[in-house]
Amino acid sequence: MKNFVQMQFAAKSENESFARVVVASFASQLNPTIDEIADIKTAVSEAVTNSIIHGYDEDEEKKVYLSCKIENNTIEICIEDKGNGIEDVEMARQPLYTSKPELERSGMGFTVMETFMDEVLVSSKQGEGTKVVMRK
Ligand code: ATP
Ligand code: MG
Repeated sequence: MKNFVQMQFAAKSENESFARVVVASFASQLNPTIDEIADIKTAVSEAVTNSIIHGYDEDEEKKVYLSCKIENNTIEICIEDKGNGIEDVEMARQPLYTSKPELERSGMGFTVMETFMDEVLVSSKQGEGTKVVMRK
C-alpha cells in the first residue's frame, strides 16, 4: 500500500493537537496497536511544539508544514518549519539540552522522539529552518 497526505497550518499551539490527531488517523491504515498510535502522537506533538516554540518563537503568523507517507508498512512523518533553525543539531539532540530553560522546557523532546520512533532525522540550517523526518 502507498499513500500520502500533506498539510500546512498556522503555528498556533491549538493546532498541535490537530496535527497529532491527523497523523494518528492517517497511521490507522497500518493497523497499529494502541501503543504504537500513542507513540506516534507523542512524537508528533514534540516536533510540532518545537517548530512553534523554538522555530518561530510563538509567532502565530508563521506556518508549520506536515506530511506523512505510508510505504512498505512503514509510516514516514515530516514536520518542517522555516524559522530560526538550529546552530548545532548534535548538541540539540542531547538529552536535557534546552535553549529555553526559562520557559521550563526539560530538553527531552528529541529524546522522546527517538524513544518512540524507529528513526529520527533532523536537518536544520540557522536562519532557514528545521526539518524532522521520523519513521516507524
Ligand atoms: P522539551 O521538548 O523537553 O520541552 P526542548 O524543546 O528545549 O524541551 P528538545 O525538544 O529536545 O528540548 O529540543 C532541544 C533544543 O533544540 C531546543 O531547546 C532548541 O534549542 C532546539 N530546537 C528543537 N527544535 C527546533 C526547531 N524546530 N527550531 C529551532 N530550534 C529547535
Ligand atoms: Mg521540545
